[in-house]
Amino acid sequence: MARDVNFIWNYCNELTHRLWQDKRLWPSGYDVQKYLKGSSEYFSVDSTCIQQIAEEHANRRKQFKKSRLRWRVSSGAKRSLGWIPFKKGAAAYKNGCIKYAGYYFKLWDSYGLGNYELRAGNFSQDARGRWYFNVVVEIKPNVSTGEAVIGIDLGLKDVATTSEGERLENAKYYHTLEESLGKAQRAHKKSRVKALHAKIKNRRKDALHKFSTKLVAENAAIFIGNVKSTPIAKTKLAKSVLDAGWYMLKTMLEYKCASAGVVFEEIDEKYTTQTCSSCGEKPPGRPKGIAGLGIREWTCGSCGEHHDRDINAAKNILALGHQRLAGGITALSGR
Ligand SMILES: [Zn+2]
Repeated sequence: MARDVNFIWNYCNELTHRLWQDKRLWPSGYDVQKYLKGSSEYFSVDSTCIQQIAEEHANRRKQFKKSRLRWRVSSGAKRSLGWIPFKKGAAAYKNGCIKYAGYYFKLWDSYGLGNYELRAGNFSQDARGRWYFNVVVEIKPNVSTGEAVIGIDLGLKDVATTSEGERLENAKYYHTLEESLGKAQRAHKKSRVKALHAKIKNRRKDALHKFSTKLVAENAAIFIGNVKSTPIAKTKLAKSVLDAGWYMLKTMLEYKCASAGVVFEEIDEKYTTQTCSSCGEKPPGRPKGIAGLGIREWTCGSCGEHHDRDINAAKNILALGHQRLAGGITALSGR
């Protein structure tokens, strides 16, 4: 099929070059398709593929302002990497295979393609000779019915704490695997260590997925702290901070909120740890700077409210989110 694609591409190349040289004509992709009408019976690819080649060729001619492009080569050292385009309706998912042009192609289906309507796409080959199936799918947005609004504080001990007091523990990922990992490391069992690290990584990803999916289903708006400005991000701890899964959690929330119609905003979390969420003061004895990192709980000297450090911060993030929705000021002042 890839050979046929190359042949058709090169035919387009020759045709458009001649039309320009002889008649000063610049045919569109649609014009070229007329020359190829009925040719699909001579090729292993289908007619949508032939149309798509003509269109792609026309787009590239326009892009590079050339009547002739590089030839596609089917063999030898300068061989072009395989490419077989198709239009919507040409490829279908059946019994774990992709059916295209009368053939069935087995594939490693990591996305559950059977759940989607397939649109246009292509088969492509990489330098190692592996083939990939690339396709645009239709996604029906699953709109969240959640009505609550929450703030999220990102941390080290707990990856995330919500203003409602829900926590995603960092230790959860490796808690039961820690001992095995230590043993394997001391015994210099490289492949075992590798496998355990992969396992921890998978558990972390799974926990983050469950946590983010639940939050998106329950809420109408989610506000999360932007940790760039915190004292932690500037220390040696920064690496473990990034490993803690903050980035992954943010990414998951971002795309899940987008498809569920939930508001998702990052909030500058400066002073959110130090400010009392009850009275808005920054009393003495509050968790402050690097030294304050170890303070898990504190009592406000102004109003007497007892705070869990992270929940208090999440509440402040939530308050700032509310202000932003109302179009107000979005940062706490640094008195
Ligand atoms: Zn207070």
